[in-house]
Amino acid sequence: MSSLAPGQPGTTLPRPASWKPAFEALGPAFYTHLPPQPLPAPIWISRNAALARELGLDEHWLASQEALMAFAGSAVLPGSQPLASVYSGHQFGHWAGQLGDGRALLLGELQTPLGGMEVQLKGAGRTPYSRMGDGRAVLRSSIREYLCSEAMHGLGIPTTRALALTGSPAAVVREEVETAAVVTRTAPSFLRFGHFEHFSHSGQTEHLRTLADHVIGRFYPECGASDRPYAEFLAAVTGRTAELLAQWQAVGFCHGVMNTDNMSILGLTIDYGPFEFLDGFNPAHICNHSDTGGRYAFNRQPGVAHWNLFCLGQALMPLIQQQDHALEALDSFPSLFQDALARQLAAKLGLEAVEGPEDTALMNDALALLAKEQIDHTIFWRRLCGLHAPQGQEAVRDLFLDRSAFDAWAARYVARTADMDPVALSARMRLCNPKYVLRKHLGENAIRAAKAGDFSQVAQLLAVLQSPFDEHPEHEALAGFPPAWASSIEISCSS
Ligand code: AMP
Ligand code: MG
Repeated sequence: MSSLAPGQPGTTLPRPASWKPAFEALGPAFYTHLPPQPLPAPIWISRNAALARELGLDEHWLASQEALMAFAGSAVLPGSQPLASVYSGHQFGHWAGQLGDGRALLLGELQTPLGGMEVQLKGAGRTPYSRMGDGRAVLRSSIREYLCSEAMHGLGIPTTRALALTGSPAAVVREEVETAAVVTRTAPSFLRFGHFEHFSHSGQTEHLRTLADHVIGRFYPECGASDRPYAEFLAAVTGRTAELLAQWQAVGFCHGVMNTDNMSILGLTIDYGPFEFLDGFNPAHICNHSDTGGRYAFNRQPGVAHWNLFCLGQALMPLIQQQDHALEALDSFPSLFQDALARQLAAKLGLEAVEGPEDTALMNDALALLAKEQIDHTIFWRRLCGLHAPQGQEAVRDLFLDRSAFDAWAARYVARTADMDPVALSARMRLCNPKYVLRKHLGENAIRAAKAGDFSQVAQLLAVLQSPFDEHPEHEALAGFPPAWASSIEISCSS
């Protein structure tokens, strides 16, 4: 994609034509053009060289002053006509009415080796959809989003990605005064369930159709060929969402704010707020301090995803028209999710397939054992990869107080895997059970250092989390148990 790579001989910028997002063609009902609001004295916090390479962007250009100004929202690149899109949504189970990109701006779309990639700034100032907000994002939450989206990608979980992180001394008031930051993030599309809800709930059926046809044409072309394209589209989004949720549950990821405006129409993890990777395996864990009712507790995530899909289905009804077609699509969720989760858990155990009720029981009983003592989720699974090595079983057993309960389970597991080559089994499992996840305290340490001007932990975590299944022996400390103070970190919606 040489014509698009800034820094190529003869051009230092993406060419204007390559910036035009396909979304823009939908028309002005869908967005407002506006420039970002400049931040004073922008600085680099981090650049994601790996993603830049994948996008075919020139790394030297990415390190340039021009890129810094562009990704801090302090200058607009030639050919870019930034826009904020309008959407609505259900928040915490209630219709919230119009929302929209209150602090996000789409700079444009790059044609890359990965396909068309939208480039968006988060925290670049107020938009017509900011409501009471200031349009800004703080350094703390921006570091969390920047690192976690790349961590999820490293884990093989569909997600928006993060290309760069810039900061500024500009003050931003949250519970306390913090400083501003901007995440530059990329995705084939940032469209959410809430975009569809917006045009449906306001009775703009032709715009709803335009939007659906746009998404089907670009991302779900197989549905377009069907004689019931919109129901097929709903079914396809249901399928992708079920897969995504199975991956979240298998790795112990808690999103924290699964409002319908935070649900990607492509089945990506999007809008990292009060997320957490579980330390101890507590299925009822609530990571969002503002979620007093526990609506988005870890074990409720699949059910909430299904509920959110119903909101999408309802929004698409003017196009689908036949209720039974919509219900057929939506009713597929529980079994798609269960099958996907079973596949994930079987892989974590090193099994090639779930072969019967004994396998299902083996998986469920492992989770029940973990839950009973709230055993560290990541460490349990990673140690299990070495179960068949000398002292391997002791290393897992030592995690449990109730050792006889573990021994009973382990005996079943050892019997199930008895005719497998232990070396191959272990190697296979290490590709499914990460050694490194973005634990809350790791993010917190990086944030504290960054607030003091030291961005080295951000860079170090980025590098390790981009390959979380590798050993990285020099970073062993990042794979340890969380310190006692980790449980007292409170993360709210405030970002
Ligand atoms: P969230 O729950 O963070 O995904 O945000 C919900 C809605 O609030 C979206 O429309 C956001 O654009 C908007 N929003 C969140 N924070 C801000 C902010 N600081 N300024 C403006 N809008 C915001
Ligand atoms: Mg959001």
